[in-house]
Amino acid sequence: MLDKVVIANRGEIALRILRACQALGIRTVAVHSTVDRNLKHVAMADESVCIGPAASSESYLNMPAIIAAAEVTDAQAIHPGYGFLSENADFAERVEESGFVFIGPKAETIRLMGDKVEAIRAMKAAGVPCVPGSGGPLGEDGEENLRIGREIGYPVIVKAAGGGGGRGMRVVHTEAALLNAIATTKSEAKAAFGNDMVYMEKFLENPRHVEIQVLADGQGNAIHLGERDCSMQRRHQKVVEEAPAPGITEKEREEIGRVCVEACIRIGYRGAGTFEFLYENGRFYFIEMNTRIQVEHPVTEMVTGIDLVREQLNVAAGRKLTIKQEDVVLEGHAIECRINAEDPDTFMPSPGLITHFHSAGGPGVRVDSHVYEGYRVPPNYDSMIGKLIVHGPDRATAIARMRVALSEMVVDGIKTNIPLQQRIMADAGFAAGGQNIHYLEKRLAESKERSLKLS
Ligand code: ADP
Repeated sequence: MLDKVVIANRGEIALRILRACQALGIRTVAVHSTVDRNLKHVAMADESVCIGPAASSESYLNMPAIIAAAEVTDAQAIHPGYGFLSENADFAERVEESGFVFIGPKAETIRLMGDKVEAIRAMKAAGVPCVPGSGGPLGEDGEENLRIGREIGYPVIVKAAGGGGGRGMRVVHTEAALLNAIATTKSEAKAAFGNDMVYMEKFLENPRHVEIQVLADGQGNAIHLGERDCSMQRRHQKVVEEAPAPGITEKEREEIGRVCVEACIRIGYRGAGTFEFLYENGRFYFIEMNTRIQVEHPVTEMVTGIDLVREQLNVAAGRKLTIKQEDVVLEGHAIECRINAEDPDTFMPSPGLITHFHSAGGPGVRVDSHVYEGYRVPPNYDSMIGKLIVHGPDRATAIARMRVALSEMVVDGIKTNIPLQQRIMADAGFAAGGQNIHYLEKRLAESKERSLKLS
């Protein structure tokens, strides 16, 4: 097993990784910025190293400082968590060149999946269903691009090969708008990602977001752990996630899961990963692969009983997967609500001092959060302050438990989105299940209109 791990992240995921390490008897090194000295996992880690000032460009994205921290503490491996450097192929490469284990896939896999055109090409070749599209980068020939658009059928979406975080894409409804849209997306992509390569896909109008969790050891073994539904989104950001996805049949799960497993084996995938799909009219369309642990991993852990971070550590230690596909049995239903330090109506971030804090509890309730009474949420990072996860024998019970858990949470001193999550848990459409990715924004727009009329 690994002996000592550097946790190159902050907040709830750093604490989550620390807990997994401690349960395996692995020593931990917390690296943190100057404003993060008071993070819970920093206090709990065996050692801690300050790697720079608050700005993440100088701390959590500072590759030499993180690698130096591994050197001075004589650690063996670096866990990148999610966000920050977790999907940076150059970082993975530098970590391994410096003689440490990068807890994630090989650098070349991260690089492949980071280029969306190449990723789609590789996935298509591996038999993964993709959105009908140009199948490669768009060239300079306007006539040819118009022909591709006509063949796919409108509406289409023009996307940057190097895009990410919901940026670098443009929906085109008519042929007349296509060439302009390609030119604009290209120049925006060049400015934002330093790469002006763009491609075209059919724009799916009312899809759901359904993703498949995989685990692989890079030694020829891979399994899938079923799916998650992350369709409750605002501005392409997930707000609520659940497992399993309402209405997905055992047969559908097995089929798409098998395809993902085969793709993992084919590309020599190592570690935990997620195949993201849009799901419409009973069909899956691959959009991208995340080569890291995800925020919403706990819902999968709750329904499978498998500790994903523990498995990441096992694989990183060079062990083969010990879990077989037939060992993966889904039980009940799990829901996760992301708790953000933000205004529940305007979504403006709300950093500051937490004056009172009470957590939720009870059967099937899990709270993954680094905050506590007296903790000051810094303004420098993502506004997520934790995740509330519940599990129940069925979806209705899980929703009921989530309602109680949300009502129990007390976070005073700052604003949080708990009231928004309560509205979602009370919403008849959410209770029905299977809503598409536009549902939440549509409901938010409706309630805004109503309150405007009332005032
Ligand atoms: P990013 O890496 O920026 O997150 P993705 O390719 O994952 O980009 O797409 C982000 C979101 O954009 C998706 O979750 C979906 O809401 C929307 N989207 C992307 N491609 C399509 C498409 N072909 N049809 C409809 N919506 C799409």
